[in-house]
Amino acid sequence: MAGVYDGAVQELIDEFNRLPGIGPKSAQRIAFHILEADPSDITALIEAITRVKERVHFCETCGNVTESALCIICADPRRLDSVICVVEEAKDIVAIERTREYHGRYHVLGGAINPIRGIGPDDLHIRELLARLSDGTVSEVILATDPNIEGEATATYLIRLLSTLGITVSRLASGLPVGGDLEYADEITLSRAFEGRQQIQVAQPTPVAPREVPTPSSVLDTPPVPTVDASPLPLPPRAH
Ligand SMILES: [Zn+2]
Repeated sequence: MAGVYDGAVQELIDEFNRLPGIGPKSAQRIAFHILEADPSDITALIEAITRVKERVHFCETCGNVTESALCIICADPRRLDSVICVVEEAKDIVAIERTREYHGRYHVLGGAINPIRGIGPDDLHIRELLARLSDGTVSEVILATDPNIEGEATATYLIRLLSTLGITVSRLASGLPVGGDLEYADEITLSRAFEGRQQIQVAQPTPVAPREVPTPSSVLDTPPVPTVDASPLPLPPRAH
């Protein structure tokens, strides 16, 4: 949207508009809220932003956000060392923790494979994950990437990579809204997806056969039934 205000006001609107989930109208509303707000409130906001940038960083083990060297989950001796749940972003950990179903450790990839944006496996914290799996402590890896094309592509890549290590790899069960973001899944859906997670066994790499396209009626009438899928997940459609 072309700027309609002069100078500083428009600059502030433009800055808010760059934030995720903030459209031009919301950006304008927040900017005017700031213009009218008590200066002490704005100082508190600026200080909170500054503090977060100064103090908060990523956990050296899992990539979660923390103000210490280790995050509260890595530092908690009661958590299971034998299971690692792999997520795209630190905010996904919060979504999973809300379910209270999971008691293992986490690993944050820092995104998902996205060829259109030029994000490949080397841009994610996959090397760090492999390092954590090297001493034999971990017996199961749960892939909890987002249920969208990028999340599936990332899970497919990790399944192939981890299948050679003799570790049980599982993927969250269906039921999560497809195309969605893990952080927006409600607790019950996410909880069920955890309980019904499917173990993936990849004996050897097999060519991906074209799958039967479900008819609209079967999609509408039949609820997703968790099944153990013995073959790699289907590759996402290629972007043209
Ligand atoms: Zn951590």
